[in-house]
Amino acid sequence: MERAKIHERISGNRLRTENYEKNFCDAHPPLNLHEAKVEADRCYFCYDAPCVTACPTSIDIPKFIRQISTGDIDGSAKTIFDQNILGGMCARVCPTETLCEEACVRETAESDPVKIGLLQRHATDKAIFSKQQFYKREAETGKKIAVIGAGPAGLACAHRLSMYGHTVSIYDAREKPGGLNEYGIAAYKTVDNFAQNELDFIKEIGGIEFHQNKKLGKDLSLENLMSEYDCIFLGVGLEDTNNLSFLEEKTLGVEDAVDYIANLRQTADKSTLPVGRKVVVIGGGMTAVDISVQIKLLGAEEVTIAYRRGKEAMNASSVEKERATSNGIVIREWLQPSSIEKIDANLSAVKFEYTAYKDKKLIGTNEFLTLEADQLFLAIGQTLEDDPLLKKLKIDNGKIWVDSEGRTSIPKVWAGGDCTIGGEDLTVTAVANGRDSAESINNFLRN
Ligand SMILES: Cc1cc2nc3c(=O)[nH]c(=O)nc-3n(C[C@H](O)[C@H](O)[C@H](O)COP(=O)(O)OP(=O)(O)OC[C@H]3O[C@@H](n4cnc5c(N)ncnc54)[C@H](O)[C@@H]3O)c2cc1C
Ligand code: SF4
Repeated sequence: MERAKIHERISGNRLRTENYEKNFCDAHPPLNLHEAKVEADRCYFCYDAPCVTACPTSIDIPKFIRQISTGDIDGSAKTIFDQNILGGMCARVCPTETLCEEACVRETAESDPVKIGLLQRHATDKAIFSKQQFYKREAETGKKIAVIGAGPAGLACAHRLSMYGHTVSIYDAREKPGGLNEYGIAAYKTVDNFAQNELDFIKEIGGIEFHQNKKLGKDLSLENLMSEYDCIFLGVGLEDTNNLSFLEEKTLGVEDAVDYIANLRQTADKSTLPVGRKVVVIGGGMTAVDISVQIKLLGAEEVTIAYRRGKEAMNASSVEKERATSNGIVIREWLQPSSIEKIDANLSAVKFEYTAYKDKKLIGTNEFLTLEADQLFLAIGQTLEDDPLLKKLKIDNGKIWVDSEGRTSIPKVWAGGDCTIGGEDLTVTAVANGRDSAESINNFLRN
């Protein structure tokens, strides 16, 4: 790549103005009433429904679908919210193809499952946008709980605790609450400021105070919180991202995928975001697919995902991989990054070593491939922040250890979501963890 051209290669403003809106429109537009009724009528209302078992929040799916088919949309919404107060976001972001829809008997019989995700969105949207309340808080208990982290885990926990009459203070390090719902999920999955609309709906129950720009370990200490509150719930997610050992110094064009997506979600003008012409993404999960699709939609010319194992081992679901390939992204497998090439301080290429399995171990084969690139995204996983405070807790496999009720190794401290062992890096699992921890905290406080 020629030296002079490199600087021209990363730039904003790659699309016509109208195409930004078009490219980032709703990935799964909502069903209208007629479509929802037709889809609901496809459900067999199975006894022992496998879709319910496959849902991490155990929503009574046949019940809410039957309520849609009888025209009881409010009842249907309540059936969902009883288990999952973030049912609106989950309807948009859940990989249903590996959860409820994969288990649906219609998928087994005809490879065409009931569209449970879209029906769930149909049931919940009206209530969320009108901030309709289904729950009345129980009488004030006088108990105070601090929730650290306003992501899906923290929000689900706070809502359930507030329902039981406890007072909740949420502390969060970022400017806006919502966690990755606000800063991480792909822009085309959650359009029209949905994360903040859902938050307003959740807040409406009352009894929850939000404190933004308050970071545990910097602005708050666990000791002080423990003396001020009856219990604590940690839903701090995974704030650090993995890096590659050979990328120590700053190279222009090398970006962290999660940080870039956060900027993309927050910017008022997508045309200001830096976009390369030849982009390489390293990783194999949802983040790798999300960044590759979004950078393509922002106008990158060639986007390649490089994954170190075979495609079938990628964490991204088949639907996600299909989303990537249908957007013209090339997925290259059996490649591990070995170095980068630069011209001045700018990235010009990424060098990979081919990989293979030997004695069940992934090894480099000493054969190499160089991909020309002006922008490289790392999407190789996130880790618990390296904070001595969090490390005071028992840690298992790099995450906070919790028991089956979400209790940590420190009495009166619970945790859930991505930061905990068993967290599956899914919004819906974080919601289930937050809700279940709230049940456990409530039992503890009442007994
Ligand atoms: C790019 C990307 C795309 C994704 N897409 C999907 C998807 O499509 N579908 C899906 O199901 N899942 C998706 N996920 C995973 C999903 O977003 C997470 O599993 C989920 O958000 C976890 O929720 P959480 O509450 O545990 O943590 P988070 O959502 O990460 O929230 C943690 C909160 O804690 C706050 N915090 C952190 N440290 C501190 C501290 N020390 N003090 C105070 N506050 C703190 C943070 O500011 C944040 O608000 C995606 C993840 C990423 C990174
Ligand atoms: S498995 Fe499918 S058909 Fe059966 S209840 Fe669930 S959604 Fe309906």
